[in-house]
Amino acid sequence: MSQPVDTAVSAVRTYIAQHRVAFLDDLTEWLRIPSVSAQPDHAPDVRHSADWLAAKLKETGFPTAEVWPTPGAPAVYAEWPSADPEAPTVLVYGHHDVQPAAREDGWDSEPFEPVVRDGRLYARGAADDKGQVFFHTLGVRAHLAATGRTTPAVHLKLLIEGEEESGSPHFRALVEEHADRLTADAVIVSDTGMWSEDTPTVCTGMRGLAECEIRLYGPDQDVHSGSFGGAVPNPATAVARLVAALHDEHARVAIPGFYDGVVELTDRERELFAELPFDEDQWLRTAKSHGTRGEAGYSTLERVWARPTAEVNGIGGGYQGPGSKTIIPSSAMVKLSFRLVAGQDPEHVREAVGAWVPGELPDGIRHEITFSPATRPCLTPLDHPALQSVVRAMGRAFGTPVRFTREGGSGPAADLQDVLGAPVLFLGISVPSDGWHAPDEKVDLDLLLKGVETSAYLWGDLAEHWRHAP
Ligand SMILES: [Zn+2]
Repeated sequence: MSQPVDTAVSAVRTYIAQHRVAFLDDLTEWLRIPSVSAQPDHAPDVRHSADWLAAKLKETGFPTAEVWPTPGAPAVYAEWPSADPEAPTVLVYGHHDVQPAAREDGWDSEPFEPVVRDGRLYARGAADDKGQVFFHTLGVRAHLAATGRTTPAVHLKLLIEGEEESGSPHFRALVEEHADRLTADAVIVSDTGMWSEDTPTVCTGMRGLAECEIRLYGPDQDVHSGSFGGAVPNPATAVARLVAALHDEHARVAIPGFYDGVVELTDRERELFAELPFDEDQWLRTAKSHGTRGEAGYSTLERVWARPTAEVNGIGGGYQGPGSKTIIPSSAMVKLSFRLVAGQDPEHVREAVGAWVPGELPDGIRHEITFSPATRPCLTPLDHPALQSVVRAMGRAFGTPVRFTREGGSGPAADLQDVLGAPVLFLGISVPSDGWHAPDEKVDLDLLLKGVETSAYLWGDLAEHWRHAP
C-alpha cells in the first residue's frame, strides 16, 4: 500500500474510534423502538422509528431528510448532494422496520433492550437492518473528516423503507411516485450479509421470483370410482403427471422456453464461487436435508445462486380424510414457484408456463393458472466500476481479499433496479450467525465498525473511478 492510502485509512480509523461510543449510543436508542411492521399495535412505533431516523440524518448533516408516508408504514428519504455536479449519484437502500420479537421466543435478553455481550450487540434489528443502515451515518461523517470535504464525494441519497419485513406492499408504488427524486447511477443495498467473519464478500445479484397456482378440473363433481373409474380422466392423476413433467432426468426445468435469455455463469464466476470455503455437510445441516439434488453440471452454490428453478410448494386434490373414499375427484391443484436469474423475463416465463400446461393434460381436464405479481432478478457484472469500488472499499476496511457471492432469494431491490434503471450492488456486513428473524439477533461490533469504515472509503473511491453516466 502506498503512503497516501495509509494516511487516509488512519484518518478514517481515528475518526471512527473517536465517535464510536456516540454512534453505538445512538444505534442503541433506535433499537429500543420496536418498529415491528407486521403487528398493527406497533404502527406508532414504526412511525416513531421513521421520525427518529429522519431527525438523526439531519443531525448527521443531510440537508434533506424527510418521512415519506405510504398507505402502510412510512419510509425515510435523505439526500446530501456533492459540491461536484459531475459526481455520480448513489442511492442507499435499507429498512427501519423489524421482525416481531418477544423474550419468550427464546431470547436471552429483552429484544428491544439492547445489550452488549462479548463484543456483540443483541437486539431485534441489530443486523436486520438498523445496524446496517446506521453504519452509513458514521461512514459519511468519517469520509468527510478524513478527506477534509464539506459535502460527500458523491451525490448521496438514502431510502429506508418501513415495510420490508411485511413484504414491501407499497414499496414499488412509493419508488414510482418519487422516481424523479430517487434517480441514481447505482443503488447500494445494505440489507444483506457476507460469507463469514473471516471472508468478506460482496453479493452481486439476487434471483427473481414468479409464482402460480394451477387448478385442474375433471368431472363436475366427485364421482364413484367403481361406476366411472378407468373411463374418465382423473385430475389428481393429471396434476401428478404435470408435476412429474416439470423436470427432465437431469433436473433441468422441462418447460419449453423457460431458459430463454438466462445469463450463464462465466468461467471466472465459477472459479470465484469454487474458491469460497464452502462446507457442503454443514450446509446440508442448515438445509435440514438428507442429500443434495439439482440441475446436472452445477455445484450446490451455483444451483442456489445462479440457476433458475421450478419448485412444487404444495399439491393437493381428492379425499385426504381418514379411511377411504372411492372417488374420482372433481379437481386437483399445485402451487409452483420459479426462481429466476438475470436475463429471464417473468412475463415470458408466465407465457411459457401457460403454453406448456395444456399440452401435458389429457382430454377432458380443464385448467386455470393464476399468477402472483413477480419479482425480477438482478445481477451486476463483476467488472462494473461501482462494484469494483465496493470491493476496494471493503478490502481496505477488512485488510483481506474480498470475494463474491450471490443471493438465492428475492427482494424489493429489484423494484429499484426496474423503476430507476440503475444497477444494484449489495454492501452488507452481517454474518449468517447473526440470527435474522430469530431469537438473540445480534451484530458483531467489530464488523459493524468495518461497515462504517467501508462506507467511509466507498464514496471517495466511487467518485474517483466512476463518473456520472450521461
Ligand atoms: Zn432486512
